[in-house]
Amino acid sequence: MLEQLLFEYYDTVDSTNERVKKRARDGAEEGLVISANRQTEGRGRTGRKWESPKDESVATSMLLYQHQIPTGAVPSITLICGLAVRSALKKLYGLECQIKWPNDIVCNGRKLCGILVEYEKLSNGKSYLIPGIGINVHQKSFSGELEDKATSIDLEMADLGRIRVCRKDIVEAVWSSFLFYFDKFLKNNDLSDLVEEYERDLVNIGRRVRIEGEDDSYEAYAKGISENGGLIVCVDGEEREIKNYEVSVRGLYGYV
Ligand code: ATP
Repeated sequence: MLEQLLFEYYDTVDSTNERVKKRARDGAEEGLVISANRQTEGRGRTGRKWESPKDESVATSMLLYQHQIPTGAVPSITLICGLAVRSALKKLYGLECQIKWPNDIVCNGRKLCGILVEYEKLSNGKSYLIPGIGINVHQKSFSGELEDKATSIDLEMADLGRIRVCRKDIVEAVWSSFLFYFDKFLKNNDLSDLVEEYERDLVNIGRRVRIEGEDDSYEAYAKGISENGGLIVCVDGEEREIKNYEVSVRGLYGYV
């Protein structure tokens, strides 16, 4: 089990995932966590942009060598990050969030956090994973495309008065929680011990959703997740498992 984490904090980086990648190529140890106050080139899935403005958000990425994880189980790491963020924010601030499969954390129907897990094989044959997490912390408002879609911890806690939200606490709590769930995952190399908890926190469950892929879009009824992290849906009375982690799952009338 991975026990030692090495935390490094930076003011501005291009992307915390990119920083970790560079360090992995230079031989860094597993458990390195790079966090930043601001990313100039934060990324979401399939090259989409992730906004991480200075002093308002936190981006954090970890280096994980893949020797313990079969390739087929890699997508589950995204779901483990989701569990880790949700549980850390609940523990630190009592904040109730939900997970939007596969890679977003939402609060009151708005996106609070995005997750991007990347994988790379080094020239020496070793391969590694980088779970990357971006959390909106101090934003007071959002504009443009994000206006009705995003939220921050401060916005969600506004009614709770003066609780001091500290990004360093968040980073440490998130990765400590990640290790807890990752350990459970490694017992079977699947999510069998975590499906129940995940489904409790899954915002899509029991709802009609729209699955938006690159080439198609269809309606489905979301039933839960499989032990391998796929989303189980019902389409025209037939059950199927979505294993394409690049699709977006939306509500029929809005983001959730
Ligand atoms: P979604 O389905 O949540 O719209 P996605 O799953 O299609 O997003 P992701 O890769 O998860 O795509 O995230 C990138 C998207 O997240 C961007 O296209 C943008 O819409 C949104 N986004 C970017 N920055 C932020 C932010 N700081 N807070 C909330 N949402 C953001």
